[in-house]
Amino acid sequence: MSYFRDSSEWQWLFTHALDWEALLPVFYPAYPTPEGWQNPDEIRSFAAEILEQVSLWCEKKIAPRAPLLDKEGPGKIENGLMLPNELLLSLYREARELELFGMTTARQHGGMELPAAMGMMSFAFIGRACLASSSQLSFYTSMADMLERFCTKEDCQRLIPKILNGELSGSMALTEADSGSDIGSLQTTAVLQPDGTYHVRGSKMFITNAGGGLSFVLARIQGEPEGLSGISLFLVEQFIEGRQNYLVTKHEHKMGMRGSFTCEILFENSLAKLVGEKNQGLSMMFHLMNQSRVGVGAQGLGLMEACLDYVQKYAHERKQFGRQLIDLPLFKRNYDQWQVECDAFRALFIDSLNSFTLYHRLDLKKRNTGELTESEQKIFEEATQSTRQLTPLLKYYGAETALEISKKSIQALGGHGYMLDHSVERWHRDSFGPVVYEGTSQIQALMVLKDLVKDVFKRPADFLSFLLPGPLPALNKTGAEHGQHEFLKLDAQVKKGLSTLVLKTLRPEEFFKLFDSKNWMQKEKLEKLMMHSESICQAMAYLATMKVLAKHYEKDDSRGKLFWDYHRLIHPRLMGILDDWKIW
Ligand SMILES: Cc1cc2nc3c(=O)[nH]c(=O)nc-3n(C[C@H](O)[C@H](O)[C@H](O)COP(=O)(O)OP(=O)(O)OC[C@H]3O[C@@H](n4cnc5c(N)ncnc54)[C@H](O)[C@@H]3O)c2cc1C
Repeated sequence: MSYFRDSSEWQWLFTHALDWEALLPVFYPAYPTPEGWQNPDEIRSFAAEILEQVSLWCEKKIAPRAPLLDKEGPGKIENGLMLPNELLLSLYREARELELFGMTTARQHGGMELPAAMGMMSFAFIGRACLASSSQLSFYTSMADMLERFCTKEDCQRLIPKILNGELSGSMALTEADSGSDIGSLQTTAVLQPDGTYHVRGSKMFITNAGGGLSFVLARIQGEPEGLSGISLFLVEQFIEGRQNYLVTKHEHKMGMRGSFTCEILFENSLAKLVGEKNQGLSMMFHLMNQSRVGVGAQGLGLMEACLDYVQKYAHERKQFGRQLIDLPLFKRNYDQWQVECDAFRALFIDSLNSFTLYHRLDLKKRNTGELTESEQKIFEEATQSTRQLTPLLKYYGAETALEISKKSIQALGGHGYMLDHSVERWHRDSFGPVVYEGTSQIQALMVLKDLVKDVFKRPADFLSFLLPGPLPALNKTGAEHGQHEFLKLDAQVKKGLSTLVLKTLRPEEFFKLFDSKNWMQKEKLEKLMMHSESICQAMAYLATMKVLAKHYEKDDSRGKLFWDYHRLIHPRLMGILDDWKIW
């Protein structure tokens, strides 16, 4: 069975939810393309073929290896080096043969230059087969992307071919012993040398794939401001003229994702190149982190699919009370609800790849050529805005739902689920990784809140309009029109509750202070609002998903069932959140 071809959901979304008409012209302005494709249909067929190949590779090679990788681990650390074992080396060899490392990299560097959506969909399949493998592999393509976007031509020409060849990979080094979510408190320093290079000193921990060969490292240049405004980004290579430039000192023993390296790195006057301008490191690292956050959404989806496929098969084989588990009404209701949430999240994920892909493509073009046409600039601005809104939702919702579904999957197998013989226990152990890395769930929720508050002050009239009554009752509306109406009604109801919450928490007590926005930003009031950020993030994720499902319903009546099933699932959750917001 293929994860891609044999899934009617994937097939529908690939064909109808990806906005091919918007995506392809940005990549292929004229036909025939440099690859020789004559028209969009040929590109779509090629894309489907690639996804099918990746999916089969995942099923036939990666998934069968996953339990052993979990048991044996990824390899060892010796003399400051990270040495992958044969299990990981096989993974890398196969990925190289499939040309996976260069799937989205520019043609000029030897890549296929396919839309970023292709990379993300492939990543979901790999995550489904083995979460640890997906994390290890992600540090090839993402490193090439960082080099293309932010580093010199010379570095690109020297390093990217090695990445595509599978000889070189990398890491992103932010976390330190006393600096996790609070990135601004980092202690790693960089000292300018007379030749314009830097020496980096410090230690980073929990670094995935730390010894891949290069690292993008956050550090503070000596004498620069404390906090977030004084952070710079450095490219640090592990070997310089045969000499070891930094040491990988430890591999952590983790509860899950045991097949991936999570290491400590020691930089002792390691030779480093400043990337971009000094003190601007965070925005470049955030590019990588945001891309990775969409990737975490893909991993979450992969985990959900793995669990539900396993439970579904088990529940058809296992009989209790003379019936298959799947036929027992309560079991079936639970299972159906998990499946609905997984299908709904997949729809949100794939739909989000439209703006993500446009942003990804045009951002690179803008950085490399310095210019976009007027129409490209407009597309870029919309795609950037939409990607900014959706990224924390994908990360939060994907990771948290995978955590929940993997837990329920253990329960669905009863005592057997508690035994190590079944993969569900591994998937649940693995599922804690995505809720933590690339910014924990709570950090995603705070980002959603921050953007929301910014929006309130930028467009107060829009915000206050949510306090007006929502849409009128749906008279004579049927099918997709009725669905759209129900979505708008729920959306208005939630936004009204949210507006009330924001107004009540932030509003200054004294009437005369109402008209100066500074008075609305008092620390203790904002902190009161922050307490609600996780439920706000949940509500925004449910509404974003419903909006996508309503759009799909308008395209195709057959999508109505998923829309209404999801509506039934999240309506009570949203009502609970609204009740919670009343207790400010
Ligand atoms: C498998 C794995 C791989 C990783 N890979 C990398 C990597 O490649 N590179 C890298 O740099 N790091 C990596 N990390 C580290 C990861 O990014 C950090 O663990 C994460 O950012 C959280 O930091 P912390 O562990 O210090 O937790 P803390 O920041 O101490 O957080 C502890 C708890 O407090 C909560 N919290 C923190 N601040 C707030 C707040 N303001 N409001 C509400 N709650 C808050 C958090 O959500 C969390 O629940 C990895 C971690 C894991 C588990």
